[in-house]
Amino acid sequence: MERDIDRTLYSREQIERRVQEMAAEIAKVYHDAADDLVIVPVLTGSIIFVADLIRHLPFKMRIGLMTVSRYRGATTEGGATQILRDLTVDIKNRHVLVVDDILDTGNTLRAVSEQLMEREPASLRLCTLLRKPSKAPKDLTADFVGFDIDDVFVVGYGLDFNDHYRNWPDLAVLRPELYQ
Ligand code: 5GP
Ligand code: MG
Repeated sequence: MERDIDRTLYSREQIERRVQEMAAEIAKVYHDAADDLVIVPVLTGSIIFVADLIRHLPFKMRIGLMTVSRYRGATTEGGATQILRDLTVDIKNRHVLVVDDILDTGNTLRAVSEQLMEREPASLRLCTLLRKPSKAPKDLTADFVGFDIDDVFVVGYGLDFNDHYRNWPDLAVLRPELYQ
C-alpha cells in the first residue's frame, strides 16, 4: 500500500489533533442538548472519522445508521437517492449530527438532510472531515469542517479508491498513474 502513496496531505498526528478540536467545538454547541444527540454517519467513508470523533465527546449519545445509495446518470449531475436501510434509531425531537468524510458537490449530504428533516428532529447539523471549497455548493453549509482542501482525490482515514486504502492512517494522494 505504501508504494502507491504519492504524498501525504494530513498526517495521522495532524488528523488526531484536528479531530480533538472538532470534538471540543461540537461539545460546546451541544452543551445543553447533551445526552439527546444522535450521530448519523454517512457510510462508508466516515467510519474511521466518526469512531475517533465520538470517543472525544464527553456525554451520552446515540448512533443512528442509515444506508443510502445514489444513482448518478451519465449525463445529469443529480440522481435519485434511495434508502437501502432505514435509520436504526428514532430522531423525532432529538438533535441530529450528520457526519461525512468529505463535502464535494454536496449532493449526498443534501439528500440525506432532506430525508432526515422529514422525521422532525429537534435540530440538524452537518459535520465533515474534509471540504473542497472550490466545488461546495452555496446553499449547503457544513456546521463543522475539519480541513478545506484543493480539488484533489484523497484516500486514507476511511476514504477509498475502488474500495481500497480506507485503512491507510493518513490522508493522502495516490500516485497519478493509479487514477487512470
Ligand atoms: P458529493 O455528493 O458531495 O459530491 O459526494 C461526496 C462523496 O463523494 C463523499 O462522501 C465521498 O464518498 C466521495 N468523494 C468525493 N471526493 C472524494 C475524494 O477526494 N476522495 C474519495 N475517496 N471520495 C470522494
Ligand atoms: Mg461518502
